Parts: sequence; C-alpha cells; structure tokens
Amino acid sequence: MVKWQGIVIHHSASPRGYWQGDKWLPINAEVIRKWHVKDRGWSDIGYHFVVLADGTIEKGRPLDRIGAHTRAGRRNFTSIGICLVGNFQYDTVSPEQLHSAVKLVKKLQQDFAIPFEKIELHNQVEGSSTLCPGKLFPKEIFFALLSSDLAGDG
Ligand SMILES: [Zn+2]
Repeated sequence: MVKWQGIVIHHSASPRGYWQGDKWLPINAEVIRKWHVKDRGWSDIGYHFVVLADGTIEKGRPLDRIGAHTRAGRRNFTSIGICLVGNFQYDTVSPEQLHSAVKLVKKLQQDFAIPFEKIELHNQVEGSSTLCPGKLFPKEIFFALLSSDLAGDG
C-alpha cells in the first residue's frame, strides 16, 4: 500500500454527461478510464476517485497504486487524486457533488491520517500551471466544510 500523505482535487474539464441516442448518460469513472487508456495510452484511469454531478462516488484507480493526475510537486507519488465531473471554469459544483467530495476527503483523511494542510486543489500545487479545478470551484466553502466537524456525517 502506498503511504498516502495528501489529496489533490481535480475537475474533469468535461461536460457532466452526454447523449447516446435519446439517452443521457453521466460521465463517470468508466468513461474517464476510456479517455485515459485509449486517448492517452495510460494503463488505467489517472484518478483514484470520481465524484459525479449527482453526488455518486465511484472508485477509479485502486489505492494500492499511484495515480496519474498531478506531476507538479511529484504529487502523483504522495497524493490521492479525486476528480469532480464537470468543467468548473463554466459550470458550478452541485450541492450533492460538493457534499460527497467533502465526505470522501474526510473519510480518506481518517483512513490515512492526512492532515488538513495536505489537501490541495490542483492549481494550488506549487509548480502546477493549470486552471484545474476551475475558477468556479467553491474553494472557500470546500475548505470551510472540511475544517468543520459538522459536515460529512450524512
Ligand atoms: Zn487537475
């Protein structure tokens, strides 16, 4: 098992879903896995978890393997990668999605004894040059919820 020391938050920089005929399908871990494996030639999805717009939490790359999500600061080797589906340069994070993300981060903090200071947005990692997770990601609320004892218990 990797000794996880931090968590990095990402967005998928994609729509939340897509139309297949007359059916709307959410963009989920399986879809992102296809992008990463087929289009980028990776062995697996780059993120360890994917949080869908409706708040569903899906597993990506197993936690016993390092991810492929943040080269800067060598975070791939130290941090768990969580992706929220959407492009938060243009879209907003839904309340369900934010709640699930906070819940997931808190659980991982407990499981791996990860301190609050080691939770980062991708664009907060020193040396990164990315907009990820987007300017509309509710940074203040996210970190306020994380540091509060009240959130994440439902
Ligand atoms: Zn990112």
